[in-house]
Amino acid sequence: MARYTGPACRLCRREGEKLFLKGDRCYSNKCAVERREGPPGVHSRSRGRFSEYKVQLREKQKVKRMYGLLEKQFRALFFKANRTKGVAGENLLQLLESRLDNMVYRAGFSSSRNEGRQYVNHGHFLVNGKMVTIPSFRIKEGDVITVKEDSRANGRINESIAAVEARKVPEWIELDKTAYAAKVRALPTREQLTHPMKEQLIVELYSK
Ligand code: SF4
Repeated sequence: MARYTGPACRLCRREGEKLFLKGDRCYSNKCAVERREGPPGVHSRSRGRFSEYKVQLREKQKVKRMYGLLEKQFRALFFKANRTKGVAGENLLQLLESRLDNMVYRAGFSSSRNEGRQYVNHGHFLVNGKMVTIPSFRIKEGDVITVKEDSRANGRINESIAAVEARKVPEWIELDKTAYAAKVRALPTREQLTHPMKEQLIVELYSK
């Protein structure tokens, strides 16, 4: 599957906020958003005024990059969210959150979503006892994600589990560190997603 392979910190600097794309580094004073002011590029400070379109576009780019998706996948997800009953923006966030790679990250088995995606691709996880290697696999309420027995000696996975206290496992996931298992109690409500996201701007952008 295609994915962005350029410098991750550049994406955060472009959006002007931390998108938590590089694991532990994002929680340290090495974070580029904290060390270097302004967007990347020589002419970055003279890019003109913010139009309504530009504000909507930047919000879409921010959320898309945070979850590590490319335009085609993100757009497809939006249209799926739009066809589903309820508020389109909230449906979109729930679809993004229910991806297996995101849940692996949220549960603390990986230090970033990108790393989570790589682990899923490499077959390190079981969902309800069955191996799943598709990062976009949709997790439902009550599903249990476990680290495959052979993968429990993986140093990086263990480091991530040990470091998860720094960013806290969200209340909708029940992590059992000793069993290398995470139960998804429920999909998050809008109020439980605390990272600032203005999903209505994305809806407006795609509805033009
Ligand atoms: Fe973004 Fe993390 Fe890089 Fe900071 S360290 S700029 S949060 S990817």
